[in-house]
Amino acid sequence: MTDLDALKDEVFRANLELVRLRLVTGTWGNASGIDRSRGVVVIKPSGVDYDSLTPGEMAVVDLEGREIGGGLRPSSDTATHLEIYRSFQGVGGVVHTHSVHATIFAQASREIPCLGTTHADHFLGAVPVTRFLSEAEVRGDYERETGRLIIERFQGLDPLATPGVLVAGHAPFSWGAHAADAVHNSMVLEQVARLALGTFALDPGIAPLPAYIQEKHYRRKHGPDAYYGQGNNRRS
Ligand SMILES: [Zn+2]
Repeated sequence: MTDLDALKDEVFRANLELVRLRLVTGTWGNASGIDRSRGVVVIKPSGVDYDSLTPGEMAVVDLEGREIGGGLRPSSDTATHLEIYRSFQGVGGVVHTHSVHATIFAQASREIPCLGTTHADHFLGAVPVTRFLSEAEVRGDYERETGRLIIERFQGLDPLATPGVLVAGHAPFSWGAHAADAVHNSMVLEQVARLALGTFALDPGIAPLPAYIQEKHYRRKHGPDAYYGQGNNRRS
């Protein structure tokens, strides 16, 4: 199996995992992965049912979005994925879903504050929300502008410590070291949104978890002082 075939297989599995985890409805979602040494991105083809998807049909593009490799036409969200790859070094996989609870926060243009350790274990600080795109941005290169909007929101933030975002009025994007990691982070983001929504229902005035508890939970799993788990980079 070539390196490209291996990446296609990995991205194929990541897309099916989105279905298994119930993070996508219909065809509303996509996962991609990048081989930075070759400058190629593999992504779900546009509008194809997950049921009939095969690894060989995965679309292949370069970082400028040019189709290579003879697969199917890439997802319409490809330009957003590419902006994230170009700007966030260290990201090897990107996922977009309309998972219900995270999308509820996106539609309300509300960030998800860190209310508990489930959140703190995986995301450092609040999951941010972008501004709305302007009319000119929407009439222009919409998907690329969505990517630029995400990059703009991460000015001053570390995308590897906060591996996801809510695009206002739209839905979440998440990313990770590789495609499966990005899927994992999209699942965590959905769970964190669900927990936060329920917590707000019980106590609309709830304050974020104290910063020293947030820091403790994040740092015991990430960075040089991490001690949780078996000494590898697994995140569970
Ligand atoms: Zn979408």
